[in-house]
Amino acid sequence: MSAIRHDWTREEVLEIYNRPVMELLYQAAGVHRQHHDPNTVQVSTLLSIKTGGCPEDCGYCPQAARYHTDIEGNDLMTVSQVKAQALRAKASGSSRVCMGAAWRNVKDGPEFESVLEMVRTINKLDMEVCCTLGMITENQAQRLAEAGLYAYNHNLDTSEDYYKDVISTRAFEDRLETIGNVRKTNVTVCSGGIIGMGESPEDRAGMLVALSTLSPQPESVPINALVAVPGTPMEDMEPVSIWEMVRMVATTRIVMPETQVRLSAGRTQMSQEGQALCFFAGANSIFAGDKLLTTPNPDVAEDMELFRQLGLQPQKPFVKKAQPQTVEAAESQLTPLGEKPRWSRPGHAIPRNEAARSAGKS
Ligand code: SF4
Repeated sequence: MSAIRHDWTREEVLEIYNRPVMELLYQAAGVHRQHHDPNTVQVSTLLSIKTGGCPEDCGYCPQAARYHTDIEGNDLMTVSQVKAQALRAKASGSSRVCMGAAWRNVKDGPEFESVLEMVRTINKLDMEVCCTLGMITENQAQRLAEAGLYAYNHNLDTSEDYYKDVISTRAFEDRLETIGNVRKTNVTVCSGGIIGMGESPEDRAGMLVALSTLSPQPESVPINALVAVPGTPMEDMEPVSIWEMVRMVATTRIVMPETQVRLSAGRTQMSQEGQALCFFAGANSIFAGDKLLTTPNPDVAEDMELFRQLGLQPQKPFVKKAQPQTVEAAESQLTPLGEKPRWSRPGHAIPRNEAARSAGKS
């Protein structure tokens, strides 16, 4: 078995990323086989439980209220709507439901209570439950854990250096703090990033160093290719090539051997052969459903046909870690603290974000 290292340097990771593709693929596939079943891929369903109207300024995101995009926002879904969607996802082969809310951070109150009930409901369907709700405190992480949350997603997005060219409404350290709060519970960590935002290969390596030097490393690392949505600051970015995606997946696999590497946004831009190369390079999870939060995604039937062609099996839930117990609201030992944490707000000017904010609808 290849050892888990927490001391990767940017130079080492960059050297791996730049290797000839055949060498890189050979090594990554070897590491993948030592730590995972190469014929099993987890299918997850991403549900946008609260869409749009977000106060943040993430330069890639159509859900930021300040940009002029065509997405339709919605208020928080109800528990029964979420349950119905989770049952559909389960029936079509998903073992995990990831619920995303376009919030800067979680606030204690009725909406969070409702999310906790959604977590309880899905965990009782024997599916892994993941949430991505923005920044959270330790108390909120503990309450999610008590409800039966399996994973919390909080992406680093890119390197610390490039982060300030993408987002000005919070800092890289806030991300690390939320990940740290999740780590104080038994909830697993899902954290990755996006390529194709104008970052350099050094930034890609820098993000992988930030993730791989966490101890323990994240149990899941989503690798997204930017979907350039009209109206966002990044609407004119060129799509990443399949070779960049393959390099990123393979490098992630080599530096984080045990991690579940998730092929996330941008799959509609990839051929089936390209996706197969990513699986060979170590990707072992996809998101199913015709939408990924707000951007297009291959439909489930297409994915199942690809699985059939490649002889892949969907991964069962709770293979990596036992199912958490759900504590009912009435039996909870934890109370909301009503904290008002002072997450940072650097507020520096990012020219393309400013331009997209002041532009009319494109
Ligand atoms: S990525 Fe998340 S935090 Fe950033 S604008 Fe979009 S919904 Fe808000």
